Amino acid sequence: MPDQPTVNLLHDLSPTLSVGILTANLLSLGSELALLEGTGVRLLHVDVMDGCFCPMMTVGPPFIKALKTSLRKDIHLMVCDPLEKIAEYVAAGADILTIHVESGAHIHRALQQMRDMTNANDPARGIMRGIALNPGTPLEVLEPLLEEVDLVSILAVNPGWRGSFIPSTGRRIARLRQTIAEAGRKILVAVDGGVTRKNVAEVAATGADIIVTGSAVFDGKAPKENAKFMLEAVKL
Ligand code: ZN
Repeated sequence: MPDQPTVNLLHDLSPTLSVGILTANLLSLGSELALLEGTGVRLLHVDVMDGCFCPMMTVGPPFIKALKTSLRKDIHLMVCDPLEKIAEYVAAGADILTIHVESGAHIHRALQQMRDMTNANDPARGIMRGIALNPGTPLEVLEPLLEEVDLVSILAVNPGWRGSFIPSTGRRIARLRQTIAEAGRKILVAVDGGVTRKNVAEVAATGADIIVTGSAVFDGKAPKENAKFMLEAVKL
């Protein structure tokens, strides 16, 4: 039986978690993923940084391809000029592919291209097209892009630097919801950055559909318990 399209699945699951994998024990990736698969978490978040768009460097398509999992791959590209790179990430198995509005001159074109790409895991899932905004980027920039996106991700920290959840993020999400309602499209909202066990319920109360956890689940201690706790907290 073909999979349900990711966009429908996430509308049903909202609000839900997308769990960052980069702080897991990468030498035991298989067992780390298995831990998560038993918790009810459905999305795996991968932060791709290229040392150009933001100061850190992380992983690329080979790592994403190597993730053998039933979880859907939520790929957050923090890379310069994504237009020429998106095909590689789709081929590596991205279910959600999010690019930054600040990352290149041809963002609209990149989103258009993604529309015609096929999900490498299962064509029935589709590719969810996401656009992310840094904390300093005005929401108005979204206006010409809303026709071409399924997801808007609001960053609550500056990408590539450590930081705590920026308080104005809640107001931005409320305004974004209004903009989406006016556009009359079904677009999901994600919030990414600074989410901890302590503030996860508060973050979920901002009205985001997807709450991304960076290091809060794979904290080197109790990933399974963290995932269950946080998944419950977002549903409250
Ligand atoms: Zn991210």
